[in-house]
Amino acid sequence: MADDSIISAPADAAEATPSTPDGGSKGDGHDKPKPWFKRLSLTTWIFIALILGVLAGMALQGAPEIADTYIKPFGTIFLNLIKMIVVPLVLFSIIAGVVSLDDVKKVGAIGGKTVLFYLATTACAVTLGLIFANVMNVGAGYTMPSGELSYEATEPPSLIDTIVNMFPSNFFQPMADATMLQVIVIAVVFGFGMIAAGKKAEPVIKICNAMSDVCIAIMRGIILVAPFGVFGLICPVIANNGIDVLRPLLWLIVVAYLAMICQIVLVYSGIIKVFARMNPLKFLRGEMPVMGFAFASASSMGTLPINMECTEKMGVSKEVTSFVLPLGATINMDGTAIYQGVCAIFIAQVFGIDLSIGQQLTIVMTAVLASIGTAGVPGSGMIMLAMVLQSVGLPVEGVALVAGVDRILDMMRTTVNVTGDAAVATCVDAMQKRAAARKARKAEKAAA
Ligand code: ASP
Repeated sequence: MADDSIISAPADAAEATPSTPDGGSKGDGHDKPKPWFKRLSLTTWIFIALILGVLAGMALQGAPEIADTYIKPFGTIFLNLIKMIVVPLVLFSIIAGVVSLDDVKKVGAIGGKTVLFYLATTACAVTLGLIFANVMNVGAGYTMPSGELSYEATEPPSLIDTIVNMFPSNFFQPMADATMLQVIVIAVVFGFGMIAAGKKAEPVIKICNAMSDVCIAIMRGIILVAPFGVFGLICPVIANNGIDVLRPLLWLIVVAYLAMICQIVLVYSGIIKVFARMNPLKFLRGEMPVMGFAFASASSMGTLPINMECTEKMGVSKEVTSFVLPLGATINMDGTAIYQGVCAIFIAQVFGIDLSIGQQLTIVMTAVLASIGTAGVPGSGMIMLAMVLQSVGLPVEGVALVAGVDRILDMMRTTVNVTGDAAVATCVDAMQKRAAARKARKAEKAAA
């Protein structure tokens, strides 16, 4: 997949630059000049669509039903397409990833490291979110009238239940319901099954590999229409709520963005430096196109093919990317975890509720679990926020407070989500390579 770039714009043919994911050209310099609309990269088109969507939304504020009737369907179709492809994409790419590791020990080593990194970075993320929200008083100056304080403490969902529910009793149900954790378990179990069956499983392995490529090709197609989808999503939001919806929540956005930027600058740069022994700036530069696309599309799943491509370009092996990145796009959502922590404090402060340290620790735990269960499509983190609020008995209606600015938060949290996946893939790959080199040296010594 590294051979042709998904978001590469066939930029200026005369420049004759090699293909790059941020808009290079594959032309040899003698091609006919491309039409003007093809000279801009897809990322640029998505940003243009975003701005046009906001402007159209402002223009339609007097008649939001026009936006709801004629423009929103484009956004809904775009989201439906992403949701439709998510299950097969995850199923086949994880099966293909597991099988590509062909010996079970390797799956164990890569899988174990990956999950540990994912859990640790997510725990750091939600802690950072809570620190920023508390220190910067995210909900200050915005109080709900006390009469509206109607909430009851609810039991947090138990950890055991969450773990038990990861294992499906039926093969098809999780696919139909898009229960992603269960789909992942099915994919890993079948991947192991194929490795164990050896030669007999070869035909089905070929089919799974081919299906994984088919799903990625479809995803690329869906990404191509993303500008229409983004326009269709943002326009009705602005038409219905007005641009003012952004103002009172500005501080929430500032705090969440700062915490998320910190996650990238401190946590990811830190693990890249320590575990991958790589210059963090080089990593961030290589990830730029991925971040741009994630920011504009607000979908980790949609960004997955580009993330695989850019991470492989930085030297990470396909073996690792094809396992670690699809898994990350499904279970590793650090930006979402930060958002959930910050929003929980915001809602608590707005409702005038003091959260104890114990309650804040519960937020850390449930936000980690909630982010694991969040699908990599726009808006899903907000739905999981309800679960976090419930875990400490905060009013679920608080979700409505932040809903108006969810898109803006979603763009940044998705950017963090995908960068976290790539950072972990880069670290795991470097550690695997070092382990292999050590093994080879040992073998050499033993032979000598
Ligand atoms: N949109 C995010 C993603 O795709 C998930 C979320 O809503 O938090 O990564």
